[in-house]
Amino acid sequence: MKRSYYTRRKKGGPGKKTRTKKQKPRYSRRTRRSGKRGAGKADASKSRKARATPYTKRQTLTSSNDTLLALLAKCSKYSTNVRENIENPKRRRLCKFDQSCFRENIEHKLSFKHSNENLGQIETDAYRECTEKFLDKSWELYKRNDDQLPNEWYVAIATHLKTWDYTDQHHLYFNILANLCQHGKSYVNKYSKRFIENLLMGMEESAVTGMFDITNRPELMECLAQMNSPDDRYLSNTALLALVKEPNTNDEDLDQT
Ligand SMILES: [Zn+2]
Repeated sequence: MKRSYYTRRKKGGPGKKTRTKKQKPRYSRRTRRSGKRGAGKADASKSRKARATPYTKRQTLTSSNDTLLALLAKCSKYSTNVRENIENPKRRRLCKFDQSCFRENIEHKLSFKHSNENLGQIETDAYRECTEKFLDKSWELYKRNDDQLPNEWYVAIATHLKTWDYTDQHHLYFNILANLCQHGKSYVNKYSKRFIENLLMGMEESAVTGMFDITNRPELMECLAQMNSPDDRYLSNTALLALVKEPNTNDEDLDQT
């Protein structure tokens, strides 16, 4: 009884899909997907892929599938958390190992106080990941757009990096600059001089700019001095251009003859 009703209903439908499935569920599925009956390998890879899906999803949430805008939004949100932790001393207990603590983990340093700590440096280190994701994503957009930063990039940085308060050393933008200062050489090597130059000039053009007085941060004055920046008291896009304007490049050193 039931069966005849079913069959009648199927006749109106697009095909024998369900009936075939009922009879030989595995074969029919395999055949439809791989186009080959008994394609064991294809089937195995399918199921592996299916199993890996949750992990893939989790990864792309924080990295490559995000737009730059979404990435910077996350980093800005993160910056609020960091700021709250740093500015509220009650949130941070003294680490039981205090000065003999070996933990380099940034989350630990944000959560526990150590009496020899440099809060500014901890904060800058906390933004290293954001800085590097920002660079990776910018590079991706730059390469996809014939070695030019696209409009999407300008919109994203104007939305999330702009600040008028040049005394705010908790800001995401300040800490991206600080990381560019401290790790700039490796970024130039990883990407290219031209890219870093475009990035700094692009920020300048979009009024993502400012001169941050860093005389309270000797470690930042030091990285500016090391790249022969004309002024090591102010951190800015233009100060960091010294990264790409060194007179002696490594490429030239290669021509030894
Ligand atoms: Zn500790």
